[in-house]
Amino acid sequence: MEQFEIAVVGGGMVGAALALGLAKQGRSVAVIEKFTPKTFDSSQPMDLRVSAISHRSVDLLESLDAWQEIQAMRVCPYARLETWEADTCRIRFNAKELALPQLGYIVENRLIQLGLWAQFERFDNLKVIEGDGVESLELSPNNSTITLESGRVLNSGLVVGADGANSRVRSAAGIGITAWDYRQECMLINVETELPQQDITWQWFTTSGPRSFLPLCGNQGSLVWYDSPKRIRQLKAMTPAQLEQEIITHFPKELGSIKVLQHGSFPLTRRHAQHYHKQGCVIVGDAAHTINPLAGRE
Ligand SMILES: Cc1cc2nc3c(=O)[nH]c(=O)nc-3n(C[C@H](O)[C@H](O)[C@H](O)COP(=O)(O)OP(=O)(O)OC[C@H]3O[C@@H](n4cnc5c(N)ncnc54)[C@H](O)[C@@H]3O)c2cc1C
Repeated sequence: MEQFEIAVVGGGMVGAALALGLAKQGRSVAVIEKFTPKTFDSSQPMDLRVSAISHRSVDLLESLDAWQEIQAMRVCPYARLETWEADTCRIRFNAKELALPQLGYIVENRLIQLGLWAQFERFDNLKVIEGDGVESLELSPNNSTITLESGRVLNSGLVVGADGANSRVRSAAGIGITAWDYRQECMLINVETELPQQDITWQWFTTSGPRSFLPLCGNQGSLVWYDSPKRIRQLKAMTPAQLEQEIITHFPKELGSIKVLQHGSFPLTRRHAQHYHKQGCVIVGDAAHTINPLAGRE
């Protein structure tokens, strides 16, 4: 039976960052992750799942020595942010006015995860168990038992549930959630833009939901279209040419001409755990709360 001080279930962005921080403090840590993230190759198309991250998140990633690794793969800085409902009344943020080189970066989630994972090997006190999910947990305040899908059994003083929105750790601990459906879906569309690499991200609030643009590297961008599930279903059923036309009609003119590269959609649900810790376990990240991504830009 393997014994750890802390077992982090889930090696996504949150679990990986936390595990590294704990390993840096000298704790004996296990990270259990069901899926091994795909390695980076610069010829890969940009992933659909990207995050807008601010200076504070960059500071955190720097403190974990992961930022350099992430930057060396691909990140897209943005120096301006605009948000508006009526076109005549825009709120504008500009890095120059704040004496900053940029306001933040758009980064693919997988690359943040890979940058963090690359640091794991520096710590003898951190063990990564990948390709094996948690099957069941017997939680107890001082020493919990974790059984993996392979049948492997671990013991840990503390269990951290960083296993995402449908957290198994959260259910094993009997932590309830308060949830509601936003009755909106979010369609992510990666596009090639006629305009060269942009340094601006913008959000336009319409009566049926926000539409936003996040710059990606080169002549690419990520469009985010929030709308009713019915409308998103309609958009997803379109051919690329029809979708392009629909985007040109319904997005602000400044987007310019675009070509659709790929798209996907996510239902939006708010979930908030009723407790963040119980019975020798703590839950973090999406296991503890999922919010509308529009409010999650950090
Ligand atoms: C469309 C969209 C846009 C967003 N944009 C932003 C943004 O701009 N900025 C921002 O800060 N946030 C944004 N978010 C939110 C952000 O993506 C999430 O909050 C974040 O990914 C949560 O990370 P996590 O590590 O908690 O969970 P996850 O990324 O879900 O990771 C959980 C991990 O646990 C693993 N796992 C699950 N079950 C098990 C098991 N039984 N055993 C072992 N491993 C398991 C999974 O494989 C996974 O790797 C956005 C979200 C969406 C949907």
